[in-house]
Amino acid sequence: MLDRHATLTVAEPRTPYQLTTTGQPWLEVLVDRPYPRDSQEDQQILTYSVPPDLTVEIGDILSVPFGSQVIGGIALRFLENLPAGLEENQIRPVEDVITKGFFPDNYWQLLTKIAQYYATDLITVVRVALPTGLLRSSQRRIRLKPEAIPPGAEVFCTPLSRQILSLLKNQKEGDYSAKYLQEKLKNANYGIRDLVKRGWVESYLEAPKSTNIKQKKAITLLITDFPADLTENQRKIVEILRHQGGEMWLPELAELAGTKHFKPLIDKGYVVIEDREFLRLSSSIMSRDQPKTLTSSQKQALEAIQTLKGGESALLHGVTGSGKTEVYLQAIAPILAAGKSALVLVPEIGLTPQLTDRFVARFGDRVYVYHSALSEGERYDTWRQMLTGTPQVIIGTRSAIFAPLPHLGMIILDEEHDSSFKQSQLLPTYHARTVAKWRAQLNHCPVILGSATPSLETWLESQANPSLYLSLPDRIQNRPLPRVEIVDMRRELQRGNRSLFSQSLGSSLETLRDKGEQAILFVSRRGHSTFVSCRSCGYVLECPHCDVSLSYHHTEPGAQELLRCHYCNYGRIHPKQCPECGSPYLKFFGTGTQRVTQELTKEFPDLRCLRFDSDTTRNKNAPRELLKLFTDGEFDVLVGTQMLTKGLDIDRVTLVGVMAADGLLYHSDYRASERAFQTLTQVAGRAGRGETEGKVIIQTYTPEHPVIRAVQTHDYEGFVETELMQRESLNYPPYGSLVLIRFSGLDGEAVQKSAENVAEECVNNFGSDWDILGPAPATIMRVANRYRWQILLKLSGEKADIDRLFRPLKSLVLPKVSMAIDVDPLTIE
Ligand code: ADP
Ligand code: ZN
Ligand code: ZN
Repeated sequence: MLDRHATLTVAEPRTPYQLTTTGQPWLEVLVDRPYPRDSQEDQQILTYSVPPDLTVEIGDILSVPFGSQVIGGIALRFLENLPAGLEENQIRPVEDVITKGFFPDNYWQLLTKIAQYYATDLITVVRVALPTGLLRSSQRRIRLKPEAIPPGAEVFCTPLSRQILSLLKNQKEGDYSAKYLQEKLKNANYGIRDLVKRGWVESYLEAPKSTNIKQKKAITLLITDFPADLTENQRKIVEILRHQGGEMWLPELAELAGTKHFKPLIDKGYVVIEDREFLRLSSSIMSRDQPKTLTSSQKQALEAIQTLKGGESALLHGVTGSGKTEVYLQAIAPILAAGKSALVLVPEIGLTPQLTDRFVARFGDRVYVYHSALSEGERYDTWRQMLTGTPQVIIGTRSAIFAPLPHLGMIILDEEHDSSFKQSQLLPTYHARTVAKWRAQLNHCPVILGSATPSLETWLESQANPSLYLSLPDRIQNRPLPRVEIVDMRRELQRGNRSLFSQSLGSSLETLRDKGEQAILFVSRRGHSTFVSCRSCGYVLECPHCDVSLSYHHTEPGAQELLRCHYCNYGRIHPKQCPECGSPYLKFFGTGTQRVTQELTKEFPDLRCLRFDSDTTRNKNAPRELLKLFTDGEFDVLVGTQMLTKGLDIDRVTLVGVMAADGLLYHSDYRASERAFQTLTQVAGRAGRGETEGKVIIQTYTPEHPVIRAVQTHDYEGFVETELMQRESLNYPPYGSLVLIRFSGLDGEAVQKSAENVAEECVNNFGSDWDILGPAPATIMRVANRYRWQILLKLSGEKADIDRLFRPLKSLVLPKVSMAIDVDPLTIE
């Protein structure tokens, strides 16, 4: 525990928050009351006073008066002065400390550090970290400690305390909920407090129960051969079971085998059916999986991981299919064996069933999934479950970095380069990789950053220290990386090929079915066409609320033709005539997933095509179901967007086609090349993961583009070298640092004025090492009727004091204009 006067120190010497009472009587408490819908943000944070005889620490769970009730709360921070508008006589005292140590060590230091670095309020950080309703279902209980009561000492305490003691003594376990005692005895709390102080009773929160365990029927195979008395159907069942590792959920076997008639097999003693725990995972596999014998580079990597010191982060650089996941699994096993837990972060769209299944197959019911799509109840359950401290593996997306694992032994970020690890739109604008490093330093555990295409930041850092660079240069079983063919679409046109599919892609698709293989086609846009314009007058149909064109959506013949805005989701029926000149000749430009699927069906009627994008996978379980159809071989071609780039490991996919790479190459952003290289390499990596060699066909109008060249030759290092030189010359990350200030509001002039005020202040008050670019309108100036301006600040060297520099800027912003500070922005558009 910290000293009474300790202030927080996390890597930086100065911090505004204090951990314990230092004679400041005011305390901000995050209270447990339903979020009032129509009110100001901070209605859940109330100010209380701390009675002189009570020691409160930040992070303590408290009971506080609220109206006529007593409710739960978390001590957030001490205040030197009362907030404006509050009078001393309005402030009520904290009632009691219910429990200490509800959060893992250093948890509040971590949240505080995030608040400072990203220049946001602590409560904003608390909101992303803690599940809502954390306290709501908490229950405070009082337990007698008979051994601590000196014989005969009871006569010296107050009548109230004596009454409580006698109530507790009459209960078998000496244990009642505080609520019960309060109902029984008036002012019971004074007595409880007295007894807690004497150490005769203890106050605790009901121990977190593990997640509601659901039972489900599982069937297990007991034989290893095929006895002669099996009927043909029974033989088929045994075969399926064997193929699945000898154990399956009953409904799944029933579905695969097409029968529910297992009784004869049970009677013969060949299988048993019993109830098993069903994890709250969407996963349903339970086949056991054994550690694989590592290749020599996997072994080297694993050994290096095991010698990492606490707080160090290493890069595991391995091409797709090189066996990184196997290294993670074997790195985690000893962590669990040592009674610690591991945190595995994956990109939002990387949280595929395939990945979680592999972890479950290895670690069984010690694997939990934690991500933002969980319901409030599920999040809450997982949270409480984690606090029990049992060794476990949490797999989750960005916000899982806040998982309250008490004995954290390792943090892994898979596909560490992925931009979904950064929260860009909401506050705080944290990056899970940055937070992971802080957390690892606080908890003295290592971080593993895995990627086939590491971010330039991580690459540069690992180059500085060779012991932190671990490489898996080859695919497992020396499977070759797929051959990448670049097709110049301008030539195709010259040759008179007006189809979306080049000759090369077309002929590969034609032979696909005969060979029993599968293909993935990558399209960078969903929808049908990226925009619609009039051939007669050139009018482009635009969103009335945003400065962007509308996309044409047409799912199937006969369906309603729609136009949709991909920024605000505005939709309208596709007009028959140009709204401007009445001409009936509207033309579609650009290609989306729907159009590719339609053309594919037209040109290759034999191929069975499945579309996989955010339109078809909106439903929570849809991605899993669609992918299963594809892996089961019900379809030949999967057509999809960005969602396809991650984690798909399907043996029979031998062909990957990129419809038009150009959509990825041209963006105003300084990271456009890096992102394009990563996406194309990831997509290409989906090909040839099985026995048969894979082939990638990239269609483009600019085959000479350096990114396309680097992808073709799988030349990560060459690409990085050129790209780093450019970044260095312009002082962009990973050399310089960036902070983006974004302004938005309905009144365009007010937004512009606010941006100008703030920019002027920065010019006047920030030191000369800050380069101030702007203010300028955002690339798309208006989205959902809100005007958007921004200022980009560039700093050579390390950032310090972000909070102190940027916080005062907020006062320069006009009413109804919002200002957001994005520290280390990934997109500047
Ligand atoms: P990555 O995560 O780098 O894409 P994976 O860990 O998914 O690679 O490995 C690719 C494939 O190779 C998987 O099917 C995996 O089961 C298999 N694999 C990984 N390591 C080994 C090994 N040492 N021996 C045999 N197969 C392996
Ligand atoms: Zn027109
Ligand atoms: Zn719009």
